[in-house]
Amino acid sequence: MIDEKKIEKIKKDLLKRKEQILQDLQDLSKKDTHETDNRTAKFPEYGDKPDENAQEISEYSTTVVTEKVIEKTLEEIDGALDRIEKGIYDVCKYCGGEISEKRLEARSTASSCIDCKTKLQEEND
Ligand SMILES: [Zn+2]
Repeated sequence: MIDEKKIEKIKKDLLKRKEQILQDLQDLSKKDTHETDNRTAKFPEYGDKPDENAQEISEYSTTVVTEKVIEKTLEEIDGALDRIEKGIYDVCKYCGGEISEKRLEARSTASSCIDCKTKLQEEND
């Protein structure tokens, strides 16, 4: 079992990633929605400050990463957060076995153990 502190850290990382991805999506769709938090106001234009966010976004825009890919990542993050909430974060969704801590450290959105992953080859990691 992964200890709670580690899960708490992973959760924070996931939430952070989610926030960035939502911002990327917003940038891609060029929509001015009102449901975003006040971070948007702090970054009215990307690129004037070379912080992590700007870097991340420029990476997205200069590569072939599409909105669809971002949405899939978002789904994976939501799935991981959901499993954390339910207390089944390290439980394999296929066999019910434990997902190794190493695997979750390498890929925090993993929802299956190595064995099932190898058998099914559903995820691309
Ligand atoms: Zn499994």
